[in-house]
Amino acid sequence: MIVHPQILEAFDLKEADYDALRYGSGHINSTIHLKSKKRGKDYILQRINTHVFKRPDIIDRNQRLAAAYLKKQAPDYFFLSPVPTVAGPCLFEWQGEYWRLLPFVKHTVAVNQADNPRQAFEAAQQFGRLARLLSGIDLREFQPSIPNFHNLTLRYSSFQDAIRSASEERREAAEDLTEAFLNYSGIAVRFEELKTDKDFRDRLMHHDTKINNVLLDDKTYEGICVIDLDTLMPGKLISDLGDMVRTYVSPVSEEEQDFDKIVIRDDYYEALMQGYLSELKGDLTPTEKEVLFYAGQFIIYMQGIRFLTDYLNGDVYYPVKYPEHNYNRAKNQLTLLQRLNEREAALRRIIGGCL
Ligand code: ADP
Ligand code: MG
Ligand code: MG
Repeated sequence: MIVHPQILEAFDLKEADYDALRYGSGHINSTIHLKSKKRGKDYILQRINTHVFKRPDIIDRNQRLAAAYLKKQAPDYFFLSPVPTVAGPCLFEWQGEYWRLLPFVKHTVAVNQADNPRQAFEAAQQFGRLARLLSGIDLREFQPSIPNFHNLTLRYSSFQDAIRSASEERREAAEDLTEAFLNYSGIAVRFEELKTDKDFRDRLMHHDTKINNVLLDDKTYEGICVIDLDTLMPGKLISDLGDMVRTYVSPVSEEEQDFDKIVIRDDYYEALMQGYLSELKGDLTPTEKEVLFYAGQFIIYMQGIRFLTDYLNGDVYYPVKYPEHNYNRAKNQLTLLQRLNEREAALRRIIGGCL
């Protein structure tokens, strides 16, 4: 891969000293491993995806605020801060694109799927630890890097708009699925109620708790650190916890078309709850304790209606490989929601055991 020398120079690195290799399987940013040719330090160089993140400066500011707070509050905590440019800021703008540099964390892996409950535990513990250490930070300084990202109120009204404005063909094709999601509108109503509850506190949340956003030791699979802090911004506990439930508990992802493969693995659910709550249980408000099961419903439902909204809108947001792609993703998430609800009693017992 060729990286323009000026980008490296901005960070006080010389092009001749590094091999630049495409790295990882992230979908959002372009990630490059800068491998030292001289046994020096390696780096990760990332180009920020400005279609998704319109304000890279906000990302940078949020991360630096968090880093400064953690440095004082928890000096031994391993928080992966970006490397500043020679000019001072951590972002370098080059021909309209934004670049940042991170220390490369050696001897680690990012797994794309939890292969065993232990990995789910380790990842959840890392996200829980970050949330716990940031629990006391002043949120007024932060801005959202993606406004309304997990605002179910807005997602639900976009869904309703899409039902109204869809082409007749798509509206009819999605009729059953639309009705099924509307039947679960209690999940959106619950969110409205929670918003008026002062115990439903704001926290600095990661907002992208997929398992490949934690680096694990490549031999022991012990959690090393959280990465991909682009959406570190004020939010609610149910965002981070819910997306772990959505993405760690079923053996298949939202892309799976054989819906029979979507199952709730209680042992993974328990492992992630244990990992997360081992860090956070002493910090939760009574309302947060009450919404631990709801977290999974909230995120799965929101993701489901986002896919369906995009199907109804004619596939304008999520990249699709075939015409029913978004329809199938929505149906997949509906199935996951149904499976979760079927196990509610058992899963609530698991949560009780973790508190
Ligand atoms: P995206 O937003 O595209 O998902 P990430 O920040 O998650 O970007 O990076 C993509 C992948 O690159 C990660 O899943 C991980 O495998 C790898 N990676 C990112 N940062 C580091 C790092 N500092 N050290 C080692 N590997 C990293
Ligand atoms: Mg990532
Ligand atoms: Mg990301």
